[in-house]
Amino acid sequence: MTDTILKVENLYKSFDKKEILKDIDFSIEKGQVVALLGPSGSGKSTLLRCLNGLENIDSGSIFFEGENVDLKEKTWEKLRPEIGMVFQSYDLFPNKTVLENLLIGPVKVQKRNKSDVERNALKWLERVGLKDKSDSYPNQLSGGQKQRVAIVRSLCMEPKLMLFDEVTASLDPEMVKEVLELILELAKTDKTLLIVTHEMSFAHKVSDRVIFMADGEIIESSSTSKFFKNPKTQRAQDFLQSLD
Ligand code: ADP
Ligand code: MG
Repeated sequence: MTDTILKVENLYKSFDKKEILKDIDFSIEKGQVVALLGPSGSGKSTLLRCLNGLENIDSGSIFFEGENVDLKEKTWEKLRPEIGMVFQSYDLFPNKTVLENLLIGPVKVQKRNKSDVERNALKWLERVGLKDKSDSYPNQLSGGQKQRVAIVRSLCMEPKLMLFDEVTASLDPEMVKEVLELILELAKTDKTLLIVTHEMSFAHKVSDRVIFMADGEIIESSSTSKFFKNPKTQRAQDFLQSLD
């Protein structure tokens, strides 16, 4: 049996009267890993920001666990911890250690038990090979290490859905792999992930399903194997070819 965690219906969003997202319709089931692909400028980041309440939508609906997210800030305040987002830039607090960075959200914002949170945080640091960095400051870490800490920080909030927006885009090539491997690890657990990436072989490996966008619209939505083997639309074919 599947269980829908997120459902988006007829979502529209414009900036300065220019339509950026048009009639966006899709849903994500619990435990699914979905790759959101498409050319630069197609609206992927804007869509993720709408799903996290960082942008207002013009019309349409977003349902989270079956509940209509009315567009009030109060609702988003409640929902935001349930939807984790990791960006291209890691924005860790520079004057706090790695461990302190991991504890702020769960302890200060979510008011969870500090020793439980700390145990969980250290477990994740160990799992990603950064346990010896728990007392380091962000400027003592490499870009890849910082980004892994940023992902662990999001995990420590125990979100029900995680959004990744090109998390390797600002990393040196030799650091991309360690971050992608961490996300591959997460994908093997029961986590629900929506991942924007330009790394096609990673997208192929990590996801169950692909949503392909161009010019603010969803052009194609299919299983990952179908999308890469046999894209239905010319746009998707062109996109995949342009990356070869
Ligand atoms: P992608 O992430 O797929 O590259 P974006 O969502 O960043 O695409 O951008 C989609 C379009 O929306 C682009 O044309 C971009 O210039 C425009 N856009 C994004 N954010 C804003 C903003 N805050 N104000 C005006 N236009 C924006
Ligand atoms: Mg983007």
